[in-house]
Amino acid sequence: MQPTAFDVLIVGGGLAGLSLACALRDTRLRVALVEHRSPSPSTGWDARVYAVSPVNARFLQEIGAWKHMAAERIEPIHAMKIFADDGAELDFSAYESGIAELGWILESSLMACELWENVKRQGNLTLFCPAAPQALQMNAAAAVLTLADGRALSARLLIGADGRDSWVREALAVPAINTPYGELGLVANFECQRPHRGIARQWFRVDGVLAWLPMAGDRISIVWSTADENARTLLAMAADELCARVAAAGNHELGALKLLTPAAAFPLSLLQVPRIVAPRLALVGDAAHGIHPLSGHGINLGYRDAKALADLLAATPDWQDIGNQRLLSRYQRERREETLLLQTTTHALHQLFRNDFPGLKPLRKLGMNLTNGLPLLKNLLVRYAIGGF
Ligand SMILES: Cc1cc2nc3c(=O)[nH]c(=O)nc-3n(C[C@H](O)[C@H](O)[C@H](O)COP(=O)(O)OP(=O)(O)OC[C@H]3O[C@@H](n4cnc5c(N)ncnc54)[C@H](O)[C@@H]3O)c2cc1C
Repeated sequence: MQPTAFDVLIVGGGLAGLSLACALRDTRLRVALVEHRSPSPSTGWDARVYAVSPVNARFLQEIGAWKHMAAERIEPIHAMKIFADDGAELDFSAYESGIAELGWILESSLMACELWENVKRQGNLTLFCPAAPQALQMNAAAAVLTLADGRALSARLLIGADGRDSWVREALAVPAINTPYGELGLVANFECQRPHRGIARQWFRVDGVLAWLPMAGDRISIVWSTADENARTLLAMAADELCARVAAAGNHELGALKLLTPAAAFPLSLLQVPRIVAPRLALVGDAAHGIHPLSGHGINLGYRDAKALADLLAATPDWQDIGNQRLLSRYQRERREETLLLQTTTHALHQLFRNDFPGLKPLRKLGMNLTNGLPLLKNLLVRYAIGGF
């Protein structure tokens, strides 16, 4: 059977793949998207929430995904407070930095469902869902993908947007270095006794990094990155015990907490992929990089990949081959610096606070206190925190 021909074939309809598909809406490219399962709206509040940077909020606006999301579920971040285990403190505010917000907290399912609705209506896109890829062949003219149900699709450019354990990356033996942190990221939502006032809080503790992200109303979503064993202990706790533990770990900053969603946990690792393009191939999102969630940059990097690749494809004249490796190398060059910088600084921060060598604690404290008094350095750090390098 002759494969159905497309220009671009995206495998993986998570936030990175979906946003890329949406960003190709106004091009003449014929796009196919292959995804295991469609996203479903969360009942209540989704415990997977992301801090979306201003630059990516703009991207979501440009591709038409922002305006239809329920505004009452989107929480602006006005300030950020960072605490170390020895009493050192660092705070940033949007006001001091001369910007309206440091970012926004959005539920993963809210973004995914909105992006999904958009791609369903997209004239130049064909959705294959539920579908799973089974075999992949690359030839000089096209990538040919066979689905598990026997259908065959071909495209001038294949995009792997299928997450950290990317099938595409494996199928093409693209080298990747995966370094597990030996930690799980525990997530859960809580109602808090006192208003959070749009402040994101983060504690660098001996047992890991705990973030309290402000959500609409008097709610917070937490990400507690902690050693596997400790995470399992937390997961096994009864709701009251977990609330007390999380409230105490955050110095009762928001009073008593009440659990709103069962806790869930995700394994954490640093994933480095030296080459994210090859002839007829480009990787985006977690398929291209994995980063510790302490800096909240994972999907922010994914959205930036999607925008960079979509811009490149949109600007490529029809006569040029979009699967050409030299052309795709421009995308790789554009994304390399930011990805490397954020992966390296985030990893270094993780190591700095995880290690307890004698003398390191006072040094950390001095560093944080000094930084707090240096507006220029703080502004630079705000740019790091909001993904605006
Ligand atoms: C605890 C935790 C907290 C985090 N917090 C933040 C944060 O605050 N801010 C932030 O920016 N990032 C955060 N991240 C990172 C963020 O979750 C990821 O970067 C993001 O989800 C990656 O999106 P993606 O679309 O690249 O991949 P995924 O979300 O993994 O999506 C991949 C998609 O591909 C599909 N798929 C996979 N394999 C196949 C296949 N073979 N066939 C068909 N479809 C397939 C899947 O069904 C899925 O829909 C956090 C991560 C963790 C673990």
